[in-house]
Amino acid sequence: MWKKIRIFILLLILLIVAVNAYRDQNQDWSKPIIVMLHPVNADGRAATQSYIQSLNLSELNGAQAYLQQMSAQYRGQPIAIYFQLGRELKQLPPKVPQQATMLDNILWSLKFRFYAWKQHERADGSPSVTLYLNYYDPEKIKELKHSTALQKGRIASVNLFASKKQAEQNKIVLVHELLHAFGASDKYDLTTGQPIYPLGYAYPKQQPLFPQVKAELMAGYIPVSEQKSKMPDSLKQTLINEMTAIELGWKK
Ligand SMILES: [Zn+2]
Repeated sequence: MWKKIRIFILLLILLIVAVNAYRDQNQDWSKPIIVMLHPVNADGRAATQSYIQSLNLSELNGAQAYLQQMSAQYRGQPIAIYFQLGRELKQLPPKVPQQATMLDNILWSLKFRFYAWKQHERADGSPSVTLYLNYYDPEKIKELKHSTALQKGRIASVNLFASKKQAEQNKIVLVHELLHAFGASDKYDLTTGQPIYPLGYAYPKQQPLFPQVKAELMAGYIPVSEQKSKMPDSLKQTLINEMTAIELGWKK
């Protein structure tokens, strides 16, 4: 009896250690990175469907070039990162809970991982990260709910507009979430949405400090004064600062 319990406890400890070891694993940036994208028609509308049908990987060339350029600044050489368009999924990722308790969040993360695991049964190779792109018709919804990523599962549920006009904004959201999946954290104040100084600033040492001309990608907004900030028009108006580079493992 006691022997069994001891073995059980030992196995449990081993499991915890193994899980932690897995968690601590940073991305090996010297290897090619495959980012798998699965579009989802999130509102079931015909307009969204035709947008998904028209999706083209070349639209993401800008995002790829951006990541190559940013990583080269810190690593001396660009990362080899490739986007792949996977099949459209008919099932939506589990909805992110609003005003969630910690338990809600834990349950959601388990559900999301289960979802990813089920979708993955029909294998699409072995991507480094998988993004589920939930498209919404902008005619129907004016504001999107927050996207979320799980670093440990290297998966993200990304809410986007099904519109070519929103292509640049979509790219910003997509790369922001992608970096979450690689361990980067948000750098804006969760209550006000304002970038946090100095973490969330593209140029924290600039004199005078305002207006800033770029957003730090993980802060999402360009601070124009202490209380105000504006949305960047494209990835070109953003950069990845040193703090984020450290979180990603691009810089020691
Ligand atoms: Zn974020």
